[in-house]
Amino acid sequence: MAEKIERVKTLIVGSGPAGYTAAIYASRADLKPVLYTGMEPGGQLTTTTEVDNFPGYPEGIDGPTMMVQLQQQAERFGTDVRIGLVTGVELSDEIGGIHKLTIDNSKEIEAETVIISTGASAKYLNIPSEQRLRGGGVSACAVCDGFFYKGQDVAIVGAGDTAAEEASYLANICNKVTMLVRKDYMRASKAMQHRVNSLENIEIKYNTEVDEVLGDQVVEGLRVVNNQTGEKEDISITGLFIAIGHKPNTDIFKGQLDMDETGYIITKGKSTKTNRPGVFASGDAQDKEYRQAVTAAGTGCMAALDAERYLATVETEKEVVS
Ligand SMILES: Cc1cc2nc3c(=O)[nH]c(=O)nc-3n(C[C@H](O)[C@H](O)[C@H](O)COP(=O)(O)OP(=O)(O)OC[C@H]3O[C@@H](n4cnc5c(N)ncnc54)[C@H](O)[C@@H]3O)c2cc1C
Repeated sequence: MAEKIERVKTLIVGSGPAGYTAAIYASRADLKPVLYTGMEPGGQLTTTTEVDNFPGYPEGIDGPTMMVQLQQQAERFGTDVRIGLVTGVELSDEIGGIHKLTIDNSKEIEAETVIISTGASAKYLNIPSEQRLRGGGVSACAVCDGFFYKGQDVAIVGAGDTAAEEASYLANICNKVTMLVRKDYMRASKAMQHRVNSLENIEIKYNTEVDEVLGDQVVEGLRVVNNQTGEKEDISITGLFIAIGHKPNTDIFKGQLDMDETGYIITKGKSTKTNRPGVFASGDAQDKEYRQAVTAAGTGCMAALDAERYLATVETEKEVVS
């Protein structure tokens, strides 16, 4: 006899701040959520040591501990947290329709509502010294980690709007910011370029790339190379910020959910509703603007509330029809 396919009210995809916050709200609303963690249980914050800006932690907290606490809070109200990756989706386009998801290419699961919290991944240069010093002075988030380099000399890699904005942010905190731009021009908008150029403590080096991040346990400097002349130079810095973009983890939803040109899921108005009824998106998977743990958690809460209201409406409609 074929195995009975499991059906759940709410399936949460992802275990970052958005997913666990959605889980806390959904389980307290008795939606009996099942949450699949994905390949990175706890999400992006498990890759950082100090989280200093999440409300409620006056002394700061390290990322992995914070995420374990969020998981425990979600489990306290009954969330079923499972290790597993959603590898396939078949989203219904009918109100009250059932969504079908595949876990680890093998298990099928049906869900009345789906909350997508699959986050985004920061792009790195992927050179060995950069990878070795991630968390030891190399960061992909200036707003998160810039404060730790107050009054110090740092460098930032990137040439787009985000890089320009982050360079300006760092310039307010740090002594000096060296901005490394691979080409002989910046991609950032004219307004952002103007802002960067107007700040005296930002030095822009064009045609310049990272050759090696210097330091054993922590960043002590940077060897850069001019890609036109081949000339190398050592810069003294304590922090290196990589601002070359993010990739939202939304590939499995392509073709079914509306997305922008870079793959961020488009949500309706001030809600977390997607173009498919009963499917909600939260956190970095739908937010290229703020990308913070607290904003991810906020939209996770919204997604659970949206799911609860949707289920209530579907239930009422069924009663009216019968
Ligand atoms: C180095 C670093 C330091 C940071 N520091 C701070 C900070 O100090 N303060 C701050 O506010 N923000 C910080 N951020 C940003 C913050 O981490 C993110 O904004 C936040 O984690 C986004 O939360 P999220 O829940 O949307 O997604 P994420 O944290 O990215 O989590 C995504 C989750 O989805 C899962 N997933 C993905 N695909 C699938 C799938 N197919 N099936 C199942 N699960 C899947 C992953 O395994 C993961 O659990 C930092 C980011 C980085 C990279």
